[in-house]
Amino acid sequence: MAGVSLQTLAHRHGLQERDFAKLDSNENPLGASPLALQALAETVQDPSVYPDTDSSALVDRLAELLGVDADWIVVGAGSESLLSVTVTTLLAAGRKTAYSQYSFVAYANAVQRAGSVSIVVPEPDFMVDLAALRDTLAQQPALIYIANPGNPTGTCVAPQALQEFLHAVPRDIVVLLDEAYFEFMPPSLRPDAMALVRALPNLIVTRTFSKAYGLAGLRIGYAIAQPVLASMLRRVRALFTVTQAAQIAALAALSDQPFLHKTIAHNEGAKQLLLAGLRALDLPCLESHTNFVLAKVGDGAAVAKRLEQQGLLVRPVGLYGLPQWVRIGIGTQAQIERLLHAMRQVLRE
Ligand SMILES: *Cc1c(COP(=O)(O)O)cnc(C)c1O
Repeated sequence: MAGVSLQTLAHRHGLQERDFAKLDSNENPLGASPLALQALAETVQDPSVYPDTDSSALVDRLAELLGVDADWIVVGAGSESLLSVTVTTLLAAGRKTAYSQYSFVAYANAVQRAGSVSIVVPEPDFMVDLAALRDTLAQQPALIYIANPGNPTGTCVAPQALQEFLHAVPRDIVVLLDEAYFEFMPPSLRPDAMALVRALPNLIVTRTFSKAYGLAGLRIGYAIAQPVLASMLRRVRALFTVTQAAQIAALAALSDQPFLHKTIAHNEGAKQLLLAGLRALDLPCLESHTNFVLAKVGDGAAVAKRLEQQGLLVRPVGLYGLPQWVRIGIGTQAQIERLLHAMRQVLRE
């Protein structure tokens, strides 16, 4: 449950912390990249010294991997912080932003803090409706947000349609493309984000080390944009928020291709297991291209609560206007089996 520690939950339900399956925050069930852990253990960090505010070593490596100059990359304390910085930079009070109905709640929160006006486009079939988003251009939003794949839906848009949409947006409107789950997308569905950023001076793409790389607790992510936009984000970003430990771990994680491949292969297999199990219980689920599945269970909050009592944490999504659904992280095989077993019981009650 958001904001409640495992310790508190364990106490509440008479369980041990180790009994909990955390399937509520889209974390990596395989843990962190071993190379990242090794680098953290081996690098001597002096906590009395400020971190490199520009994350230079990491930025240089990302630039090399992505084939752009270093001034196209901005590192932040989690990609969520970069969403916030983008909102702060571009959305003064009263300015407008357009986004899809089931968009990541952290974005909507940042917009609310900025006092700007939201143009929310309906998502009747749980997919970002690019045509409807295009219709909002007439209202001149300053910023458009698209998470691809989306959270909590897990769905993504066709790459060709996304490319056409992005090219149709006037250059004075910035588009923030959130690719937090990019690594989990099948290659055929991945837009060529780098080609898009090179072509479009008004595009910001964000990615994170929290999901596929298993570093959620260290808080580190990055944005890619052309230098004018990137330098704007860099100026607004708070100094020293990305710790040295996060920089060291992220740099090592980037070179841990075996861990990344293992994570993706595990996720694919476990996703099929979870989907098959949920469908066998007659629960509608969305096709997911992430490390979670959105399933329609009836009273989402009540089901989540019953599962929590058994040490299984899933995310109710009433906050997103989906009270009948829960978002379930794709855990280990053992966790999924436990979840399906418990779900069967809960639904029978
Ligand atoms: C998890 C998530 C993020 C960001 O996570 P950070 O840990 O802040 O990098 C961003 N966008 C979406 C859609 C997410 O689900």
